[in-house]
Amino acid sequence: LIQSDHIIKWMELVNAQIDKQKEYLTQLDQAIGDGDHGINMTRGFKEVIQKIHQTTYDDIGKLFQDVGMVLVSKVGGASGPLYGTAFIKAGQVLKGKPEITINELGQAFQESVNGIKLRGKSQIGDKTMLDVWEPVTKYIQQNGNTLNIRELISYAREQMEHTKELEAKKGRASFLGKRSIGHLDPGAVSSCILFETLCSILL
Ligand code: ADP
Ligand code: MG
Ligand code: MG
Repeated sequence: LIQSDHIIKWMELVNAQIDKQKEYLTQLDQAIGDGDHGINMTRGFKEVIQKIHQTTYDDIGKLFQDVGMVLVSKVGGASGPLYGTAFIKAGQVLKGKPEITINELGQAFQESVNGIKLRGKSQIGDKTMLDVWEPVTKYIQQNGNTLNIRELISYAREQMEHTKELEAKKGRASFLGKRSIGHLDPGAVSSCILFETLCSILL
């Protein structure tokens, strides 16, 4: 079962990994955006860590909601409100639960996906973070407690790589039209980091 401590550990790993890949995320966003994705993400998750270390959580939903609120309020740019919405929506599903199964986490992520779609007016294939979030969430839901962590990681990476071939339909990259083809979507890459680090707490 997954407890608050696991989620806190997850956020610490995300923070460390995002910080490590800050330059890379920025370079990806320089190619098809405004070059701030690394900065936005590191700022956001640093604030998340500060916030969640101030409290003890016996409600996983509350923990997710706090993470989301910080991301919405502290991160400028499209990614903050979108990641924030994802965590807030998941938090609503997990409200009041001191521990959860992988299946419940999958259900919560389904609400995250719905939230990203609604807020971003985006759909699968638009070359956004959703191109990682939606298939990976489906994968988690389909496999549940029999989830193979290695397979999940390689699946998430495949989905991330797939954004290279897509033409951006949403966000700043969409201004480039067909010239966005051939570049990875920065938000898909940061989302892949999120799911890869999640795997290490599920091990
Ligand atoms: P900004 O584009 O405002 O500078 P970031 O650079 O931090 O914000 O984040 C860009 C990422 O946000 C994109 O790579 C994409 O994955 C995601 N994104 C942008 N717009 C949307 C949208 N409408 N729906 C889903 N994701 C989006
Ligand atoms: Mg940007
Ligand atoms: Mg920006």
